[in-house]
Amino acid sequence: MPDEPLELSDISISDWYPHADTMTEVGFPAIARRLPALIRQALGIAWTASRRDTLATIALSLLGGVFTAFGLLATTGVLTALFSQGPTPDRVMAALPSLAVVAVSATLRSAVGAGAGWAQARLTPQISRATEQRLYGLTSHVELVAYDDPEFHDALERANNRGAVVADSVVTEALDVVTAAIGICATAGVLGVLHPVLLPLLLLAVLPDAWAAVRGARMRYATMYGLIPTRRHKWIVGDLLAERSPAAEVRSFTMRSFLLRLYDAVARAEQDLMLRLARRQAVARVLGEALGGIGTGLVYVVLGLLLAGGAIPLAVAGTAVLAIRSAQQSLNNLMFATNRLYEQGLYFTDFLEFCADAERRLPRAGRLPVPGGFERIAVRDVTFTYPGSATPALRGVSLEIRRGEVVALVGENGSGKTTLAKILAGLYAPAGGTVHWDDTDLADVDPEALRRRTAVIAQDHTRWPLTVRDNITMGTDRGRPALERAAAVAGADEVVAGLPLGYRTLLDRRFAGGQELSGGQWQRIAVARGFHRDADLLICDEPTAALDARAEHALFERIRAHAEGRTVILITHRLASVRYADRIYVLEHGGIAEHGSHEALMRNDGLYADLYTLQASAYK
Ligand code: ADP
Repeated sequence: MPDEPLELSDISISDWYPHADTMTEVGFPAIARRLPALIRQALGIAWTASRRDTLATIALSLLGGVFTAFGLLATTGVLTALFSQGPTPDRVMAALPSLAVVAVSATLRSAVGAGAGWAQARLTPQISRATEQRLYGLTSHVELVAYDDPEFHDALERANNRGAVVADSVVTEALDVVTAAIGICATAGVLGVLHPVLLPLLLLAVLPDAWAAVRGARMRYATMYGLIPTRRHKWIVGDLLAERSPAAEVRSFTMRSFLLRLYDAVARAEQDLMLRLARRQAVARVLGEALGGIGTGLVYVVLGLLLAGGAIPLAVAGTAVLAIRSAQQSLNNLMFATNRLYEQGLYFTDFLEFCADAERRLPRAGRLPVPGGFERIAVRDVTFTYPGSATPALRGVSLEIRRGEVVALVGENGSGKTTLAKILAGLYAPAGGTVHWDDTDLADVDPEALRRRTAVIAQDHTRWPLTVRDNITMGTDRGRPALERAAAVAGADEVVAGLPLGYRTLLDRRFAGGQELSGGQWQRIAVARGFHRDADLLICDEPTAALDARAEHALFERIRAHAEGRTVILITHRLASVRYADRIYVLEHGGIAEHGSHEALMRNDGLYADLYTLQASAYK
């Protein structure tokens, strides 16, 4: 059977390396212009991470520059003594003091260089820690509604995936730029002191090299950029060949040879590009070195002319050659670090912008203390629209909840029940209208303190990779009796009884000895979590969606029976479960369509009665 022809689809890279095209298009002048700001930012981060190591890196690099300069100046002394008239032993003796200075300078320069390297290496882990702490400090603190904003979400992905990761290399590259610049300044200073005409000579020697270095870096970058789609393609196919989830279908559909051909096609494309890069880089290197050679040749010619004309002594010319060599080395480092700094800087700027945006999304500080409890919650005319959404999720909702009541919110999908519950829980701030706990407007209190007085049992509860105990206590310790009481109310005690380590069992199979629970068992843990919290208000947002109608009814009965003075808000689709609620609010298109007791609503013969009759007939 002939093989099907392969169709390789294109892969989009924009979401992966959003700044890749910026890097291939931008010229060196643009890079140089942004450099000071980037260095300032990087040093700022380093400074916050560790003042001592930042200071040490810069001070030791500066000292390194000073010793380089001393060494070069002393070299002139050595050469002057050696090139003078007289018997060789005398000339060597005369050169000894300068030679000692050269040796000491070289030793000291190596020592401070090592010290600077150490301080710089110490900075890296501290910066990683500080940036991650800053990122996660903000992501866990911003208002919940930020997560409903696609723009925030995209920015967060970029900051999390690349921005925060490059922080330490941004600092490393910035310090490398500074160190290399110090090295160049030191040699330029020495040349200026020896003879002013040597300064333009330095330029002549380093410019061709600079050009070649920039060209090489751009070429490398452009190739790597071009390779992104191919590599990504290769990884996707590689995953299909080596991951667990497609493994069964790879076999049952005998996909192996097809996938291997696909892999080979992409891998070959990558290989061809890499080979082409190797050739172009070799050519560029030859060209760069040829240009560098011409530059250096010109320098020697000029030096020769200056010597012949008696403008500079032989010893100075010798030192100049050494100084120019050392400057070329520093320049290569500078070019490399600058390029990297600019590229990493683009991603790092994403991180900084994300942080600035997140700071603006932090919850407001509360003016008033949260009331110790309430007799009455009054929701007045509340409106709410999700970011980026054209229609409001809530439009002018008013309701009243008294202490100890069980209040049900019902309505069809998308009618606004969850949104209203989140506003009651202090997770979203209403765009219009107010929520009062007695006389206190919740807009005036610290949302975090309010949330401590509220418990939410949600349908999409988190399965925390923690022990059963921590999954119920959520990091608060109210003692063993409170833990067991909460578990018993939720029926989680039966789950715990079946676990090898009881409450200390880790609920995540990825850890050694970890256990997995069924959906229904997890749901009991989540209910226990809600009951364990010392809250005035308990919000149950469809916690029972995974259960059948009978189990849901039994659970709601349990919640009602054990509310112990808590006020309970029940959200469910199944109207049979809310029959015994003190009051039922029926939501429709983000507004309250009707409210009252079950009997009153049935007598009303409105939306509730319709829905109830419809559901009841389905069960008959
Ligand atoms: P219910 O809980 O009654 O099913 P919700 O409160 O979840 O309803 O949703 C109310 C409305 O808000 C729906 O139209 C829904 O599409 C919209 N909505 C819910 N969550 C979001 C969100 N994160 N972003 C944008 N719109 C949302």
